[in-house]
Amino acid sequence: MPGLVLFDLDNTLLNRDVAFKLWSALFISKYGLPESAGDTFLAIDADGHTPRDEFFGAVKILFGIEETTESLIEQYHLNYPPCYSVEEMTVKSLRNLRAVGWKIGIITNGPPSQQIKLEVTGITDEFDGICISSVVGFRKPDLAIFQEAAKLCASRLEGWMVGDSATADIGGGQAAGLRTVWMARGRTWDESMPPPDFIVETITDAVAVILTSED
Ligand SMILES: [Mg+2]
Repeated sequence: MPGLVLFDLDNTLLNRDVAFKLWSALFISKYGLPESAGDTFLAIDADGHTPRDEFFGAVKILFGIEETTESLIEQYHLNYPPCYSVEEMTVKSLRNLRAVGWKIGIITNGPPSQQIKLEVTGITDEFDGICISSVVGFRKPDLAIFQEAAKLCASRLEGWMVGDSATADIGGGQAAGLRTVWMARGRTWDESMPPPDFIVETITDAVAVILTSED
């Protein structure tokens, strides 16, 4: 019987790399920075893992921007979420899962503005529940956020976790008793960690794996 499929948001359902590069280009043009600043931003950003005050603190010093870090962060929260878009195949795949009875949810570590990414891409209604760490007070890989996500989806915590982070998504999902699908994004799995059940490159492939797996 179908259960629950939880999806990570950034660089799993939505391509954060594309959105971040788009935001970078807007920022570079606004402040008249050299185009090469984009590579510097990518390096400091570390896939979004660098706290934003550290990120903008470094950007300010490296590029001699006089605005306060607070003001830069405020603008970032306004300008960056609208840079997101969703692939049509992703939406189609989610609907295929739901059509055969799976409950589907989002489980994401991030600020409340994660919700804006869902609104601008128009995918809010595709999910049974949306669980944002800053809203529920727990972060992946903590078991509590997985329990919270299942509750928000009105589901038992049984099924799958799909995500691109080895520790937050795969480690967290395994500890929560879920089967796991890792979005590789061209990377290889670190063999020192317990492997995911499947490794894929796209949401379409992740959904295909779930739909064809035995219970
Ligand atoms: Mg992610």
